[in-house]
Amino acid sequence: MKSGFKGLCNHCHAKPSEIKLDYARLHLCEDCFVKFVERKVERTIKKYGMIKNGDKILVALSGGKDSSVLLHIVKRLFPDIELSCLHIDLGIENFSDECKRKVEELVHQEDVKLEVMSLKDFLGCGLSELALKYRKVCSTCGLLRRYMLNYHGNTIQATKIATGHNLDDVLAVLWDFYVKGDLIEASRLQPVTKLIHPKAIPRIKPLIELTDYELKVYADLKGLPYTPIQCSYGRESKLNRRKKLINTIESMYPAFKHTFFKTHIKRIAPLVMDKLEARRGNWMTCSKCGMPSRKEMCAVCQLKESLKAQEN
Ligand code: AMP
Ligand code: ZN
Repeated sequence: MKSGFKGLCNHCHAKPSEIKLDYARLHLCEDCFVKFVERKVERTIKKYGMIKNGDKILVALSGGKDSSVLLHIVKRLFPDIELSCLHIDLGIENFSDECKRKVEELVHQEDVKLEVMSLKDFLGCGLSELALKYRKVCSTCGLLRRYMLNYHGNTIQATKIATGHNLDDVLAVLWDFYVKGDLIEASRLQPVTKLIHPKAIPRIKPLIELTDYELKVYADLKGLPYTPIQCSYGRESKLNRRKKLINTIESMYPAFKHTFFKTHIKRIAPLVMDKLEARRGNWMTCSKCGMPSRKEMCAVCQLKESLKAQEN
């Protein structure tokens, strides 16, 4: 939170402290906070070997604060790395147009190339129409986004796909797996994900050690374009409820989030990682599109077939 505490910044000892980070026991001025966030992203990238010389990074831009910060920081940290951006226009009423506008503003400001893929062009209908036909539209949306990112990544020969997932996002998902005791599925959530398939581009989450709060303050201080609007379908509100719960724990037990994350990565996931692959079986190649698949035909091609069948 922006602190009422007006002592001096714990880093520069010169300017008044404006931002209080309880988990790190720090009071920072705005300039030192910006450096703190950037250093943290740099350390995360190094720690997990996310970016190497010669990489071509595809940055997934949603129009939200996280991916705006992601592009801004990665571009500054790695001025010589080839960057490409993709926005997927999901066709969600009262939401997608605003997301696209913000992404376009951002790439203009950052002076980077942008490709926009439209779900309507790709599938024949946008998400709002899909929601009328299928109940579980949020998991389908996640599936389609992952597929389209990987598909586009292959066409431009990207070596990594970077997304803006942050600590709060990851913990909100982990929470449910831990409560259900599904540690094997939980171990899937990692800073770097690589499926064993020649067309599966490794996915990296450089913001995984930063919170919603830190990213919002950073985006606002830097004047980065983003939309605060959230998608109207159920998943966001479910995740937000869990985020609220985790924030309540954090307020009583500072550093709970970081401890939970470290425990997951260092202690729990390594115990069950091999069981995850054994449970899911080997990746195959979709007979229709050539992308990674669990079955003879991938879930996206199956969805396309089912939509076609409904038309006839
Ligand atoms: P979310 O699941 O909405 O929290 O999004 C997590 C991350 O996925 C974002 O930070 C983006 O990097 C990426 N992403 C989400 N939606 C889109 C989109 N419509 N187009 C491109 N990337 C997206
Ligand atoms: Zn397929």
